[in-house]
Amino acid sequence: MSAAAPTILPVATGAQVRRYAVRLLRKYPRATSLALSLHALAALAALAGPRLLGDLVEDVEQGTTIGRVNTVIAVLAAFLLAQTVLTRFARYLSFTLGERVLAELREDFVQNSLALPVGVVESAGSGDLLTRTSRDVEQLGWSVRWALPEWTIAVLTAALTFVAAIAVGWWVAIPCLLGVPPLVIGLRWYLRRAKDGYLRENASYAAISASLTETVEGARTVEALGLQDHRLRRVDADISESFAAERYTLFLRTVFFPSVEVAYLIPTVATLLFGGYLYTQGAVSLGDVTAATLYVQMLIDPVDRIVSILDELQVGAASLARLLGVAHVPDDREATGRRPDGEQIEARDVRFAYSPGRDVLHSVDMSVGVGERIAMVGPSGAGKSTLGRLLAGIHPPRTGAVTVGGVGLTELPLAELRGHVALVTQEHHVFVGTLRENLALAVDGRADDSRLLAALEAVDAREWVEALPDGLDTVVGSGGRALGAAQAQQLALARLVLADPHTLVLDEATSLIDPRAARHLERSLAAVLHGRTVIAIAHRLFSAHDADRVAVVENGEITEFGTHEELVDRSGSYAKLWSSWHGS
Ligand code: ADP
Repeated sequence: MSAAAPTILPVATGAQVRRYAVRLLRKYPRATSLALSLHALAALAALAGPRLLGDLVEDVEQGTTIGRVNTVIAVLAAFLLAQTVLTRFARYLSFTLGERVLAELREDFVQNSLALPVGVVESAGSGDLLTRTSRDVEQLGWSVRWALPEWTIAVLTAALTFVAAIAVGWWVAIPCLLGVPPLVIGLRWYLRRAKDGYLRENASYAAISASLTETVEGARTVEALGLQDHRLRRVDADISESFAAERYTLFLRTVFFPSVEVAYLIPTVATLLFGGYLYTQGAVSLGDVTAATLYVQMLIDPVDRIVSILDELQVGAASLARLLGVAHVPDDREATGRRPDGEQIEARDVRFAYSPGRDVLHSVDMSVGVGERIAMVGPSGAGKSTLGRLLAGIHPPRTGAVTVGGVGLTELPLAELRGHVALVTQEHHVFVGTLRENLALAVDGRADDSRLLAALEAVDAREWVEALPDGLDTVVGSGGRALGAAQAQQLALARLVLADPHTLVLDEATSLIDPRAARHLERSLAAVLHGRTVIAIAHRLFSAHDADRVAVVENGEITEFGTHEELVDRSGSYAKLWSSWHGS
């Protein structure tokens, strides 16, 4: 399985998986029952064969005409045709049903993933979520499209065939039951060992290709250091491990397949023997023995499918459990319905830790006036970005409160929160689509070109956008026109201008733009954002100089907070930073 990706996101329990599957199928009662009925009818049509053949045997024994035989054969052919047509429609229905269910599963998964708290995604890493979106969805797709319908059909067919066999005479149950113990014992023995065996086999293939690639890629080093023998021994060892692993699974198969074959053969042979004995006793007719034997033989195919698909279904269920698990991440936001009274941002006695017991913010207090421009400065790793994220409501504080107008930021639904506070960092995504679509995202697509261009102008980007041959219609993002990092950053800022929240938290939002251009950009942004509260994490001190107040963050605390002049006069950390920057 995915040994490399640690599982940090939860996995749903078996009961939750079953409840979900049942609920999903209940959503399509008509399609489900129609598909099942068609499969049942197809199986019933197939069951006519042995009975007709049995009757034919009896007729032949008692003397019959060619005409009668021909009629029986024509009826047989008609049933065969009916079975084929029914099967075709039954399959068509169950495959389309499978696609619908799969589409729904995917939508649920995407919805659940998008609702994941940012903090959880960051700490779980993208690996686990990615494995779930790719490998698990693919695995589940296989199960839902193919394994589940096939398995259901096989169970239905086996059950109906068994009933038909018993209908010939109760005695047929005895030979059938004789096959059960070897089948169950063989299956349990095999399933208990197979998973580890095949995992070991796969791992050994991976090891061989890893060491071969390593040897080939590092051929010069191997030669230079005279490591040939060492590498050869390594490859030999890998190959013999692989050989041993393959031998083991081969051994498993050489035990399992014959035991299953025996389990399939025993009932057929026993039906013949037992039926033959009963016939000699005059208890049953030759036709009954023929029909019974044929039914018992017909059981082999569906039972074989039930057994072999079981494995696939287990893998599919495991994938479903991992996909559903994403929905079980506890939410770190809780909408209380309270409404902010004003736009005043405040942090009170805020502590925060990414991992338990290791606070990166210690008792931070900060009150930001409406329309105030705050610059946060301090050494790298001091906690500026972390504080910025708390002030933007991305993480809830461990203790204390971060509020807008007296309401905790994480008490507000996300859509509402973003109208109050927005965060821009240096990581931003350019979506595949036109520039217009990329910008209009910020306002749910509702903006005319003049507004978009005004926003671009505010971030100094209007010129280059208008210089593009297609202007706002230029397709960007992967596969489209490649934008530079600075241009992408300008787009993100333009989106922010369009969204126009009351408070902006800018974390290195202009870091990828060259310093002189950045200063100009920040000034034009400031003009547009006039009257808005801005909390900027400053990596260049001129932004601090332009701000109303400066907060110095050191070791997870605000050590100085005041205007540029006040802090310079105080001769503390900020004064030192300022003189070293200014002096250079
Ligand atoms: P600054 O923005 O001042 O450079 P940060 O807020 O990025 O500081 O980091 C403060 C502390 O928190 C650092 O010790 C950093 O290693 C830690 N930290 C930052 N982000 C994470 C994270 N996602 N998970 C764990 N620790 C983090």
